[in-house]
Amino acid sequence: TAKRADERGYRLFELAMQEATQRRRLLEVDLRRACMREDFHIAYQPVIDSATGAFTGAEALLRWTCPERGNVEPSEFIPIAEELGLISRIGASVLKQACHDAASWPEHLDLAVNISPVQLLDPRLPQTVIQALDDAGFPASRLELEITETALLGNDEIVMRTLTKLREFGIRISLDDFGTGYSSLSYLHRFPINRIKIDKSFVRQLPADAGSASIVRAIAQLGQSLQMKITAEGIETDEQMEFIAEHGCNDIQGFLISRPIDATKIVGLFQREKRKAVA
Ligand code: C2E
Ligand code: MG
Ligand code: MG
Ligand code: MG
Repeated sequence: TAKRADERGYRLFELAMQEATQRRRLLEVDLRRACMREDFHIAYQPVIDSATGAFTGAEALLRWTCPERGNVEPSEFIPIAEELGLISRIGASVLKQACHDAASWPEHLDLAVNISPVQLLDPRLPQTVIQALDDAGFPASRLELEITETALLGNDEIVMRTLTKLREFGIRISLDDFGTGYSSLSYLHRFPINRIKIDKSFVRQLPADAGSASIVRAIAQLGQSLQMKITAEGIETDEQMEFIAEHGCNDIQGFLISRPIDATKIVGLFQREKRKAVA
């Protein structure tokens, strides 16, 4: 009977595997189709200055609404797009659309766009970025590209060449989800990075958790001494916001300020603030 139970267990395992493979294959099919039909849109999450509370810009976040599945999370479909070799194409259209949308924002506001590690290894990236800026008439000085620590790992020369080229055009680079990757502090110093975004996992337990509080303080100090800007992401409560503002983070992003919203809504948000400033 033990053998029977084993066999049964194995059979169940096999079925689960088959189901996972099947689900994954269907997701791939849908994603390829979404690429053809451009079933994507971009949501924008505003960022504010921690000292003044004024908007400093917004981050573009890709959204996929599949006719059958509904909304699929970027954390689910972006890794697949990377594996299927679709991410450079998707990424190029995000850059194009986001620069186009941001061209109608007030001039003091910046745009941040996420760049996958796979895109960063594509030697065509600088050209793609410049093309998107040119087409939209959006200035390079208002664009910030968000890369992750993983992207810096191991491909020093290619990545360095690309980042240097982007910087020469006046584009800024920020290091997203800081503290979650295989961080080596030497990266911060070696690569031309303008900003650190403290990962939301450290923000979540502020201010009560002493460990998270020390990490946030340390990252903020590190950034300041390396003359980098600091953003804290994932701010959901007033207490988190106060802690962050007191500890030298320049910018704040999170549901407390606003969830990611569509292109029309963010223009409305920015315009309301502008009117308030004039009044
Ligand atoms: P990310 O770049 O770190 O973006 C921040 C994520 O945190 C977003 O999730 C945003 O909706 C979420 N978030 C913002 N404020 C809060 C908060 O207060 N609380 C919580 N719990 N979450 C908050 P989203 O949109 O699901 O995106 C997940 C990740 O997918 C992004 O993380 C980014 O790594 C990736 N991603 C999104 N759009 C793109 C894209 O166009 N290209 C690439 N390559 N990656 C993208
Ligand atoms: Mg999400
Ligand atoms: Mg980001
Ligand atoms: Mg992040």
